Amino acid sequence: MERTYLMVKPDGVQRNLTGEIISRFEKKGFKIIGLKMFKITRELAEKHYGEHIGKPFFTSLVDYITSGPVVGIVVEGKNVVSAAREMMGATDPLKAAPGTIRSSYGIDIGRNVIHGSDSVTSSAREIAIFFKEGELVEYSRDLDRWIYE
Ligand code: UDP
Ligand code: MG
Repeated sequence: MERTYLMVKPDGVQRNLTGEIISRFEKKGFKIIGLKMFKITRELAEKHYGEHIGKPFFTSLVDYITSGPVVGIVVEGKNVVSAAREMMGATDPLKAAPGTIRSSYGIDIGRNVIHGSDSVTSSAREIAIFFKEGELVEYSRDLDRWIYE
């Protein structure tokens, strides 16, 4: 089973969207195996968003992601990396498909409410940045037989 790193960004937390966002992944059937609220340091923000260093939006992105608490979520499930990206929608909320999280709750690209890993490689990297081994919880769910055939 794949794992992905999702994060309710500071705007999502401030706007009381945390429960709504977590709920979408729960209702879909994906399994939450890690969950915590914390503030991202500039150092970790620069590491997490390392691929964007030097881009015009980099400084404002780091300002934004360190501006308040975030909620980090590790989710497990079949094809969860790409499935979560589909559920989130495009980076720019005004271009995101209707019904997706970013389309439903955002307007500006710099206030797009949620992060999700863009590949299996990124998810492993990002989970390791934000979660310690012991913070991920392995458990089985009887419900899985009603979710997976
Ligand atoms: N971002 C921005 N302006 C841009 C592009 C990106 O503020 O022109 C921010 C936005 O919050 C986005 C994050 O930088 O979610 C990371 O950008 P990326 O292209 O990796 O988008 P994502 O993977 O989050 O869809
Ligand atoms: Mg990205």
